[in-house]
Formats: sequence, C-alpha cells, structure tokens
Amino acid sequence: MTSTLIENAAIATVDAAGTEYARGHVLVEDGVITSVGAGGPPRRAELVIDGTGCLATPGLVNTHHHLYQWATRAYAQDSILFDWLKALYPVWAGLDADVVYATTGAGLAALALSGCTTSTDHHYVFPREGGDVFAAQVEAARAIGLRFHPCRGSMDLGASQGGLPPDNVVETTEQALAATAEAVDMYHDPSPGSMLRVAVAPCSPFSVTEDLMREAASLARAKGVRLHTHLAETVEEEEFCRERFDCTPVQYAERLGWVGPDVWLAHTVHLDDASIATLGATGTGVAHCPSSNARLGAGIAPVRALLGANVPVGLGVDGAASQEAGRLAPELRQALYFARLAGGPAALTAREALRLGTIGGARCLGREAEIGSLEPGKLGDIALWRLDTLAHAGIADPVAALVLGTEPPLAALLVAGAPVVRDGRLTTADEDALAARLTSASARLAGAAT
Ligand SMILES: [Zn+2]
Repeated sequence: MTSTLIENAAIATVDAAGTEYARGHVLVEDGVITSVGAGGPPRRAELVIDGTGCLATPGLVNTHHHLYQWATRAYAQDSILFDWLKALYPVWAGLDADVVYATTGAGLAALALSGCTTSTDHHYVFPREGGDVFAAQVEAARAIGLRFHPCRGSMDLGASQGGLPPDNVVETTEQALAATAEAVDMYHDPSPGSMLRVAVAPCSPFSVTEDLMREAASLARAKGVRLHTHLAETVEEEEFCRERFDCTPVQYAERLGWVGPDVWLAHTVHLDDASIATLGATGTGVAHCPSSNARLGAGIAPVRALLGANVPVGLGVDGAASQEAGRLAPELRQALYFARLAGGPAALTAREALRLGTIGGARCLGREAEIGSLEPGKLGDIALWRLDTLAHAGIADPVAALVLGTEPPLAALLVAGAPVVRDGRLTTADEDALAARLTSASARLAGAAT
C-alpha cells in the first residue's frame, strides 16, 4: 500500500456542508482519501507532508482549455473572437504532433503549478500532414501526471459553406466522426479513479455543421461519454445563430440534442432568462472562463443567475492564445471579481468561487463522486497552498487569502496521493526543458505561417 499524509494544515473540504478545519489532517491510502478531520491522523503514512502555515483544498478542476494554443500566445492582441480566430487559423494549420506534445506538456505543467489536478482539453485542429496529435497529447499528459479529459474536437463548416474557418483546417463530417469514435475506443477509461476520459466535442456553431452536431451527440451517447462545445461566447455568435438558424445559441443546442446532464458548454456569456432556465432544467454544465472573456472583450457570464438555476458551473482557463497566463488558481479571483462587477459585492463569495473551481468543475465532468472535495472515499487529489509567505501572512481566513489574495505558492500538489508538485516545483518533468521545447515549437509554427 502507498500512503501520504498531510498534517497540521488548515483544510477547506468543500463538502456539501462546507466543512473546514483550522488545523487538521488528510490521509490518502492507495490513491483514495481514507481520513480527513481536525487534529492528528488515525495512523501514520509512508510520505508525511507538514502543512503548517498551509491550506489544503481539493485539487482544482479545469473545465475548458486548448493546450495547443500555448504555441501561439500574444497573437491578435486587440481583436474580438471572430477576427482573432481568422488571424490564428492559418498559423494553427501548421500544427503537428511535435508542437502538440510540447504545448500539452507546458500547459499542463502551468496548470499543475497553479493547483490543478484534473484538466480537460479541447483540440479541434487536425491538419492532414500533422500526424497523430491526439496520441501526442495523451503521451504528454501521462508524463506530467494530471488527470486528463481530452475532448476530441472537430470542425467541418469551412468558409466556402458559410463557416468561419478556412477550408484547409476543417475535416469532412465523416472523417471527424470516425476519428472521434476511434479516439474514444482507443483511450477512454471509464473505470473508477480513471486518469483519462475522452469527450466528444465539435468546436462551435460557426465552425461545425448541424449534421456533425447531431451525429456527434448520438455517438457520445452510444459510447457513454460526455459532450462538450463552445456556446454563446460573443454577440457575433448570437447574431450568426439568429441569422442562420433563426434562434438563440441555447435554442440551437437544444434543437440538436446538445443539452442534458452529460453536456457542458464553454463560456455561455450571452444568455437570456429562458436560456438560463433551459440549462438549469436539463442539468447542462457551464465552463466559466472569465480571463479569456476579458482578453477578447466578450462580456461577463451570468454566473450568479446560473448558480441560482442550479446549473453546474466550473472554471476554465481557456486556450492560452486568449489567456496567456494559462493558470487556474487566479481564475478563482477573476470569477469573484467578474460576478461582483456585474452584480455587486454580494454576487459571489470567496467560498463560492472555490466551489466553482473544485466541485463545480467535477460536476461538469460527471466526476463529483470522485473528485472536487476532500472526503473519505474520494480520490487523493489535493492542493496544499503556502499561506505563510509575505504575500498572505497575517490573513486570518485562509480561503479568503487563497481567493482574494495573489496566487499562493504550492507546498504540494497530489494526484491520487502522489506528488506532482513539491515546494513550488514540478516533480514529474524538468520545467526548463518544457520551456525550451515550447520556445522552439512556437518559433517553428510562427515560421511556417510566414
Ligand atoms: Zn475555448
């Protein structure tokens, strides 16, 4: 048996009752939490981490990302989404398995170093000459050691058919469906404690045909995997839906079978009351990406109203081309700030923000029985934040320090009880080597596009 113990730490369990301990322990045995509570543990462990001056929370869950975009940061710096995409599609046309291996490693490392233990990715650019980019992602994710939910994306609505992407970066409907089915068959692991689950994820209403949306939903349900896409991100998307389909984005999604407890949607910034009610009634989840929405000037998602309608809401960093930091912990504060800018100082509390980043994300991914809170029987995915440095010293409320203060350094990040980060450094890979590989991948992609 392997076992890891965190002791002497403040603990925010994020369980249903919001239980917190000023000083307590979390014991993980064979990857699963077996004891959490005040004071000392019931027994010792092989690895003991002293959490004095630290706060233990559930590992954060990232519900939306495009890791490949790590190689195209800081392009189109002042553009709305549609113009930003048009500037980037030609660069992304040069993606290949080497670039994706480099970006997946770099992006997941940044997430690990910001407290994330489970991340999705949404990859939807598959150049014909690019090799097996999905396999490259899986391999890179295994090396970093986070729980990984790659979403096999797709685009089949090129510019010649009225879509946004140029024709040379889209697949045919048949190719997209076949490759998606293959990715699920090859990599999806539904077992408890799974390190890798695949979702089905056509890209967005303006880059995917109605046929592909419908067929993808059928495919996902036949295989018992989840569905993910972008929806209601910008006013331009809403205009596109009204002009082309004569309805709102959520009505469009509903018409195609894209609402339900097995669906989570990225962004949902522009929603009317009926749309919020639909998401709540159907249990459709939302990946809230406040920094990306700000970078592209897209607007502020109605998080308070979504929570009021019992919509599962998680946090996402979104792709690093529209959120260059790519770190998850700062999104706790961004979510709180944005909710308050829209709805006043009572619109979201620090503890609600932490719920979004943990159990809310777990609900989006259908894993709330396994991750997202620190309770016996759940997986040993834990972030241990140092609150004893100059940045947070003297703040009596540790959850407020984490959410309202700057991002704390990590004393440790555990996935299934195994350290992925210790004392602020990645233990599973060399950070400088990841950075060097990313620099070279970014330069090669930029060179190929000129
Ligand atoms: Zn996105």
